[in-house]
Amino acid sequence: MSILFLNPVLKDTIWGGTRLKEFGYDLPSDHVGECWGISAHPNGDCEIAFGEYKGAKLSSMWAEHRELFDNVEGDTFPLLTKIIAAEDDLSIQVHPDNSYAFANENGSLGKMECWYVLDADPNTTIVVGHNADSKDELVSMIDEHRFNDLIRETPISKGDFFQINPGTVHAIKGGTVILETQQSSDITYRLYDYDRLDNGKLRELHLDKSKDVIVSPYKKPELHVGGFKATVNKGFQELVNTEYYTVWKCDVDGEANIKEDQHFMLVSVIDGDGLVDDYKISKGSHFIICKDQDEVTFNGNMSLIISTVN
Ligand code: ZN
Repeated sequence: MSILFLNPVLKDTIWGGTRLKEFGYDLPSDHVGECWGISAHPNGDCEIAFGEYKGAKLSSMWAEHRELFDNVEGDTFPLLTKIIAAEDDLSIQVHPDNSYAFANENGSLGKMECWYVLDADPNTTIVVGHNADSKDELVSMIDEHRFNDLIRETPISKGDFFQINPGTVHAIKGGTVILETQQSSDITYRLYDYDRLDNGKLRELHLDKSKDVIVSPYKKPELHVGGFKATVNKGFQELVNTEYYTVWKCDVDGEANIKEDQHFMLVSVIDGDGLVDDYKISKGSHFIICKDQDEVTFNGNMSLIISTVN
């Protein structure tokens, strides 16, 4: 019977701070921006925290124990769950899709991602999409450096949810904490950095690749494409269902039996605490319920974000 508990990988970023302490993590510095909670990506490969497989990397679990993941095919563990806490604005970026990344980035996966907003300071906005009506207009707005007209900003608050398809211009701003579920990829093209200086220099932009991959005009994505796996679990609220992943939110109040009716389930505790079977969990815990586990029992008062690969 397998639940794989993971030690998160914490990442320093120039826009990071100390808010990830709220999730119970020991921070290595005062500018930690990202917690890679469930990841087998080479830039942050999580270790199993305890139990039979203690110390093993998630990438090697995927390589050597594929039965725990329902024998899903693929060279790399497909998903990555992060908590991102921004003290300062992130640069504005865009990701390629699988076919562009495969051809131009050494066979990497593309990156589709989605965000559940865990917290946002009052009057915070988020950048999702752009205002150009066509590819030609997009290219001329970039060439003319009209980024403030180009980017599309929306106010946000706790509990909002955004699906970011490949080719979507996006960025979070300072004062935002999100849980991100994404394809396991680290390919990012930087479009605009608010002309900020880093050690006296502008950070590199990737304008040609950005022009290649940005979809114009921006179209708000469908959240529930459907046709993929559903769940029998009544308490699951579907946030998004796409070609690559399905993500749910589940609130536990007391006892909840959850059937593992997917290939496997990635679980992150975003609030509260309690038990999963006999194991203590709390805000900031990340684990995988594997295929050999028919069901688990949660006890306590907590909110979970659960995802699976489609
Ligand atoms: Zn992104």
